[in-house]
Amino acid sequence: MFKVAVIKGDGIGPEIIDETLKVLDVVKEKYNHKFEYKFVLAGGCAIDEYGIPLPEETIEICKNSDAVLLGAVGGPKWDNPNGKVRPEQALLGLRGALGLYCNLRPALLYAPLRNASPLKDEIIGDGIDFCVVRELTGGIYFGERGRSEENGEQVAYDTEKYSVSEVRRIAKNAFEIARKRNKKVTSVDKANVLESSRLWRTVVEEVAKDYSDVTLDHLYIDNAAMQIVKNPRQFDVLVTSNIFGDILSDEASMVTGSIGMLPSASIGEGNIGMYEPAHGSAPDIAGKGIANPLATILSAAMMLRYSFNLDKEAKDIEDAVSKVLEDGYRTGDIMSNGMKLVGTKEMGDLVVSAMRK
Ligand code: NAD
Repeated sequence: MFKVAVIKGDGIGPEIIDETLKVLDVVKEKYNHKFEYKFVLAGGCAIDEYGIPLPEETIEICKNSDAVLLGAVGGPKWDNPNGKVRPEQALLGLRGALGLYCNLRPALLYAPLRNASPLKDEIIGDGIDFCVVRELTGGIYFGERGRSEENGEQVAYDTEKYSVSEVRRIAKNAFEIARKRNKKVTSVDKANVLESSRLWRTVVEEVAKDYSDVTLDHLYIDNAAMQIVKNPRQFDVLVTSNIFGDILSDEASMVTGSIGMLPSASIGEGNIGMYEPAHGSAPDIAGKGIANPLATILSAAMMLRYSFNLDKEAKDIEDAVSKVLEDGYRTGDIMSNGMKLVGTKEMGDLVVSAMRK
């Protein structure tokens, strides 16, 4: 029995999670597994209900689960930059409470979606397939920050800070993941300028000594951002800090065509992982039945693989997604000439029937 805390969230969250649960139902039936779902609130809907984005009850239920499956949070209704409570605080709170320091974002261009990538055919070559490993609970997003007065004007600062142990554990994750892939790690930093990056680089090199079967190279963040569009096929696993990873993983999602296709996993010291699509709550299309549910469905596949060790079942979902794309079905975000346009629910049904065949 696998216990899953389900956070549908805001915007398109409920629509894409409903399709994902349908797909997990097939896994249940086909492979005789039991999933117990507990539905909890976080984000904007929790602010509406409880006045806070991450109620204690949600944290407790997530902590007592084997995995958390999340749709997305946020939307214009709660978008007051000066507001004390914001939906996104739920994400930071959950990552902190569950010790999720490592975010994995595979950037995989499905062959039938070549046209959706903004990159030229010769750059895509025989396909793009790399993974961004982002440190998630340290660095400038969590460092000391503040405002003060200097020379009669207001100044603000945020601090980038990493400890050896924080870098070591994320580096180890990256090397372990590379071992299961093409055995290459590229560490991204700004060691020509930042002291924190110099420490990062030294520690990554130390960790590399335990992984002689994996190749390591280093890139500065500005160069890495260029290389992702110039020659993405050189990459296997990119490991980087919280802020650099935030930016690079969004860039990676663009080169693979649609953000609606990209899953993500956040894992940590414990056994609980959190699985969610790389995209946000897409308020512009919420409630219209047109959102692409595939990123969330693929996030559930990652949940099966990383949290439950169910590799065969995860692959079953991934193969079904490939099959549906090969058969020419597309939601609006990945639509191209000659393909068959479907909505959120229909796309979920297609994945379900591909798995049943
Ligand atoms: P977004 O990812 O929600 O949307 C960007 C664009 O991509 C929109 O045009 C949207 O319609 C489209 N899109 C996204 N997912 C799609 C899907 N599955 N199918 C089809 N089209 C899709 O990013 P945004 O507009 O910057 O943010 C909207 C809200 O989401 C904000 O409140 C933001 O804070 C929040 N957000 C939440 C998360 C999260 O929950 N993890 C992540 C990012 C942003």
